[in-house]
This record gives sequence, structure tokens and C-alpha cells, in this order.
Amino acid sequence: MTKTYSAFNLLREGLRGQKGWGPAWRSPKPRATYDVIIIGGGGHGLATAYYLVKNHGVTNVAVIEKGWLGGGNTGRNTTVIRSNYYYPESTALYDLSVKLYEGLSRELNYNVMFSQRGMVVTAHSEPEMELAARNVNAMRLNGADADLLDVDQVKKLAPILNFSPDARFPIHGAVWQGRAGTGRHDAVAWGYARAADALGVDIIQNCEVTDVITEGGRCVGVATTQGEIRGGAVGAAVAGHSSVLAKLAGYTLPITSFALQAFVSEPMKPVIDTVAFCPPYGTYFSQSDKGGLVIGGGLDRVPSYGQRGNMPIQEAVLGGLVEMAPALAKVKLLRHWAGIVDVTPDSSPIIGPSGVEGLYVNCGWGTGGFKAIPAGGTLFAHILATGTHHDISRPFDPDRFITGRLIDEGAASGIAH
Ligand SMILES: Cc1cc2nc3c(=O)[nH]c(=O)nc-3n(C[C@H](O)[C@H](O)[C@H](O)COP(=O)(O)OP(=O)(O)OC[C@H]3O[C@@H](n4cnc5c(N)ncnc54)[C@H](O)[C@@H]3O)c2cc1C
Repeated sequence: MTKTYSAFNLLREGLRGQKGWGPAWRSPKPRATYDVIIIGGGGHGLATAYYLVKNHGVTNVAVIEKGWLGGGNTGRNTTVIRSNYYYPESTALYDLSVKLYEGLSRELNYNVMFSQRGMVVTAHSEPEMELAARNVNAMRLNGADADLLDVDQVKKLAPILNFSPDARFPIHGAVWQGRAGTGRHDAVAWGYARAADALGVDIIQNCEVTDVITEGGRCVGVATTQGEIRGGAVGAAVAGHSSVLAKLAGYTLPITSFALQAFVSEPMKPVIDTVAFCPPYGTYFSQSDKGGLVIGGGLDRVPSYGQRGNMPIQEAVLGGLVEMAPALAKVKLLRHWAGIVDVTPDSSPIIGPSGVEGLYVNCGWGTGGFKAIPAGGTLFAHILATGTHHDISRPFDPDRFITGRLIDEGAASGIAH
């Protein structure tokens, strides 16, 4: 069976009718016991499994997924990758992720199509320009790349935007992060799955965790639709369903779950080669390699587990798109969908112990955890393997909701993803 995606193997398989490729990962039956069980086969769960083996040599690992790999938010997001956050704790985390993304295709031998096409976040008044300057200064001080652009520089980068002085919110300038960009969401899940499987991780799909087993107050495993599985440590990376799992195990999380919607248009010739976000319109968009516009906006107003689109959000986000770029007014929509995201009070993630001994959580990524998959996996693997925080994950421990040391990134992650 051919496994490695090299130029030679692609040519060889092309010449012999693509008959030699093996499956990208196995479909094993769950064993009775693992050293570490990870609940959730999204990007974070799969990356955690990969780094557990690669960075810590923990080889007896299972990922338990109730549906199919990447079928949660990882396969539903608008794929923006960036590290333009405000606080140093956040920059350390998200910039680690951008750096890992920069080498990920090579590391996983799987093309995750990370395209560093940059991101423009526009400012629409002189006070907003001052805030933009403050953001740029903060990002630079924290070690991330950022530039303050004037209106002519924005025009060069994204001429499709509305530069009319009569626009409802005329553009004055922007914050630019050149290393930001987009990736291929499925490929991130599949790349990590394939690499983790090659290192011996058991990836078990169509297997729902229905209960958490505790003995003497300690988590010792999970009950699933494929039977009981015991584990030395259990990690939950189930995004919008984190509170559902917490209820099973008897702990609480400061998480509210909302639907977040996105849209893709019919394919068209290239109209924009960066990611553009205009905050007052509540809309951002980029163009995929297939030519479709990938469009997103804000959360549904009402908490819910209803994983579907609705007309009020469609009107709000697409109305914003037309004001941002009137030339796109007649573009037809192809698809519209939603994912259930896990939002914390300070819009920052939670990585750390759950309150039940032996059970750890990786959640609270809300609208912005795709960009964080490589770092989230690295940091969660560290805590599962060692029982202690990596320096970068320490500030994201859930104890911050007791000590009050919040990392309030609402302004950075509330919508721009
Ligand atoms: C519309 C939309 C746009 C977004 N845009 C961006 C963006 O541009 N950039 C960005 O950085 N982020 C974005 N995000 C957020 C990002 O998608 C998520 O933060 C990220 O994918 C979370 O990854 P995850 O692995 O934690 O969760 P998921 O990918 O949701 O994986 C969790 C998995 O857990 C499984 N699961 C749940 N309960 C159980 C159970 N009981 N037993 C077994 N398995 C279970 C689910 O089936 C799921 O596959 C967006 C999200 C949405 C919905």
C-alpha cells in the first residue's frame, strides 16, 4: 500500500490507476484500556492525539468521535488563521499556532493549504484609527506582526471594498496582519488524523461518549455506544457540546453555546486575495481556491444547539457584505450552514483540569478555534501527558474565573474569527 504523498508516489499511482493507495487511517475497534482517551475527533482532539505521541511518547491513545472526523466546527468554519489579538497571553498562544501552521503541511505530509494572504481589519473614523494604532502597537510589543494602513494602502490591498466617502461607514484605514490567512479546514482534521494513526493512535468514529465513569471521585474512563473504555487520563475537546459532557461528569463550565453561521457563494473569477473584515457591518469575507466567497458574521443572538442557518442572520451578514463591497450585490449564494460554538465570558479558551480528577478540558474557543488547532493540540497534549500546564496554557486555566484574571478578548474574537 502506498502511504506517503510524495511527487514520485503521485506519479506512480497516476500511472497505475490510483490502485495502490491505502486508507488514510484505520477503523479499529476500541480496546478496553488506553493511557489517554480523547473525546472529540475535531481538529483539537486529533491534534492533541498527534502531539501526545510525537512530543511526549504516549503511544496508547484513543480518539472517540460520535460522528465523523471534522464533522463539528472544524469542518464548518471560515478558516481564518491569524494572531492579531490584544493581550500578551493570547498572542503567545495564537502566534505559536500560526508558526506551527507555517510548517504543518510538511510536518504532516498533507497539504493543509495554508495561504498567508494577510488580513485587513478596517477602521471607519479617526477615533477608530487611534484604537487601530493602539492594537498595532500592542501586537508588535507582544511579538506578532502588524501594520497600520492608510486608506490608499487599503485600496491597493482590497480594491473591491467600498471606498466612497458616502458609504455608511467610510474607510479611514486598517490594521493589517500579513502572516494571517486561510487554510483548508477538512485537510487540517484529516492531516492530523492520518499522522496520528500512523503513530499508532486508535481513531474510533461513530462512537458517542454517553457517560463519564468515576471511581472514588476520579475519572477512570467513559461509557460509549461501543462499550466501556478505561483510560489513565481523559481529555474532552467537544467544543459547543462541552457543557453537555460536563453535565454527564458532574462539573460546570462557564460556557454558553450559540449557533454561528457562514455562507459560500457561487465560484467566480478572483475578486479579493486577502481576508477583509469591516467591524461596523459585522461581516468578513475571503475567496476560496475554488472561487467561492467564504462569508461570515456574528453569533446568533439566542443560545441554542440548533445547528442550522436562519434568515435574520442571512439578511444581517449579507446586507453587511453588500455595504462592504457593493460590486458583490448580485452574487448568488451556494450554501449556508451553522456550527455550535462554545463561548466563555472573556472570549478566551479554557485549557486545564475540569474539577473531576483525571478529566481535562480543552474548550471555549468560541468563534475562533480553527486558527488555534496546532497550539491547542500542543498545549492540551502537554497537560494530559504531564498533569501540569505548559507556560503558554497556564493563563487559560479555568481557575481564572475564580481569581478574576480574565483575558478579555471580546473585542478581538467577538466576530472576526
Ligand atoms: C461558522 C463558523 C465559522 C468559524 N470561523 C472560524 C474562523 O474563520 N477561524 C477560526 O479560527 N475559527 C473559526 N470558527 C471556530 C472553529 O471552527 C472552532 O473553534 C474549532 O473548529 C473548534 O475545534 P474543536 O476540535 O474544538 O471542535 P469540533 O471541531 O467541533 O470537534 C468536536 C467534536 O466533538 C464531537 N463530540 C461532541 N460530543 C461528543 C460525545 N459525547 N462523544 C464523542 N464525540 C463528541 C463532535 O461530534 C465534534 O466532531 C468558526 C466556527 C463556525 C461554526
